[in-house]
Amino acid sequence: MRRRLRLPLAACLAALALTGCYALDPEMKRSVEARKTQTPTAPAPASPAPAKQAEADPALAEVDVRRIEVVKGMTALPPPSDARAPATSGEPRATIIPGLTALPPPSGTPSDLPPPPAPAATDWPVRAAAPADPAAATLAGQTVDAVATAYVSLSLEIGTHEKGYIDAYYGPKGLLDASIAAPRDQKALLVSTRQLMAKLDEVSPDLTDPIERQRSAFLAAQLRAAETRLMMMGGARFSFAEEAERLFGVRPVLRPLKSYDSALAAIDNLVPGEGPLATRVEAYLDRFTIPKDKLQGVFEAAISRCRGRTVAHVALAPGDSFELQFVTGKSWSGYNYYQGGYHSIIQVNTDLPIRLSRALDLGCHEGYPGHHLLNMKLEEQMVKGRGWIEYSVYPLYSPQSLIAEGTANYGIDLAFPGQTRPDTERDVLMPLAGIEPPADDKYWQLLDAMKALTGARLTIAQQYLDGAIDRATAVQLTEKYLLVSPARAEQSVAFTDQYRSYVINYGLGEEIVRAYIERGEPDRDEIWRRFALIIGEPTLPSDLLAR
Ligand SMILES: [Zn+2]
Repeated sequence: MRRRLRLPLAACLAALALTGCYALDPEMKRSVEARKTQTPTAPAPASPAPAKQAEADPALAEVDVRRIEVVKGMTALPPPSDARAPATSGEPRATIIPGLTALPPPSGTPSDLPPPPAPAATDWPVRAAAPADPAAATLAGQTVDAVATAYVSLSLEIGTHEKGYIDAYYGPKGLLDASIAAPRDQKALLVSTRQLMAKLDEVSPDLTDPIERQRSAFLAAQLRAAETRLMMMGGARFSFAEEAERLFGVRPVLRPLKSYDSALAAIDNLVPGEGPLATRVEAYLDRFTIPKDKLQGVFEAAISRCRGRTVAHVALAPGDSFELQFVTGKSWSGYNYYQGGYHSIIQVNTDLPIRLSRALDLGCHEGYPGHHLLNMKLEEQMVKGRGWIEYSVYPLYSPQSLIAEGTANYGIDLAFPGQTRPDTERDVLMPLAGIEPPADDKYWQLLDAMKALTGARLTIAQQYLDGAIDRATAVQLTEKYLLVSPARAEQSVAFTDQYRSYVINYGLGEEIVRAYIERGEPDRDEIWRRFALIIGEPTLPSDLLAR
């Protein structure tokens, strides 16, 4: 089932003027009106965000950022000198600082908070280097250019050894053809990867421009992930935490499953009755299944609204477009295949019945302000704007994925804060799906409560991949802790089979992005501005974390 959608910017702006996109979208109308009258948009209500799901069904979310470890050496950038400590309320969170120099310090931060301690110079080799040689800096920049091109070829060659390794490539066709014509074997590629890493190490201290240093740090982290993936292709196995750290740039330390029992008890109160809780929850949520013949219309409407809410805050690339496809036989529930030229193919897996909540989840995550927006901003600002060829290739197993999945998941709440999501689902999407809107808010309360469980998926994946439990137990625990049917649990574990520690990128990535962006309780315009900066500059997970 295919239908090509072309939604040029002009059309959406026209729709914006006519308020057609947002006719039933109160938060958007409020935002537009506020902009028209040149008054600041009021901050969104602090009510809990509705539940969301990650790409793979079921979703991921809450991860305790206090237990995230920063991977040393993943960035050589110093924290900005004017960084402020995050506002704290209640239980202290991780100390999150803006570690990426191009990103702004939070303007909404109370000024009476103490500044963070000054970093030790020895912790930051680039700062300690204090380069001042323009000739050396120029030479270093040229070397980084050369490493970047070599990294693209290397990535494309690695992609010939593993299906799915290259998530997107839209660079020069000649480079692709040359890279895959006679790809080196894995051993030779590993040697080459390490040579490129050593070359970057050698020249990075000579770089003077902060953005060039960010570029070099990004390349180094991507190469480290490539090295790890090649080692894995050669048979190396790491613990779940180490694999995640090497590939995605953060080392997760996950909560024990029993810590989710209180959340299960809270959900039990929402869906009382006999039999297993998962069965009751599934039976309740099944009422909100989108009929197959309504999928196209519901998803088009959902993505249109995700786009409308995004374009009000972030300038899209000219002529951006996407194609929506419904597919089967996948371990994921949605996927964005970025094609270059500001065009994406967004696929939705219909192996299992699709519930209404997935429309906005996937519309935002795969489309706007998620993967489609991220990729088009990378192409527009990095590849075309700066001429950085390395961004024309996207290796799936790399720190880039934590940023991509984290921003895509966070983008759901970003686009639909507070009550706007239930309003949109009740007033727009349920009627389109032919679903009778519920008389109360129990549906959204349940989804919200279930979000507290989603970190359990990471723990189950860790136990399973580390060999502590077998596959059947992983499926059974997924049913119990994520409250899904055996079929959905099977799909979830199949995703872990295929993508392994990649699962951390959803919940953990979202938590890292959220903690960074919402530091200091900024208003919504500032939140969007920070979000746009994360996806428009070289950003590593460690840039968003406290040291
Ligand atoms: Zn995704």
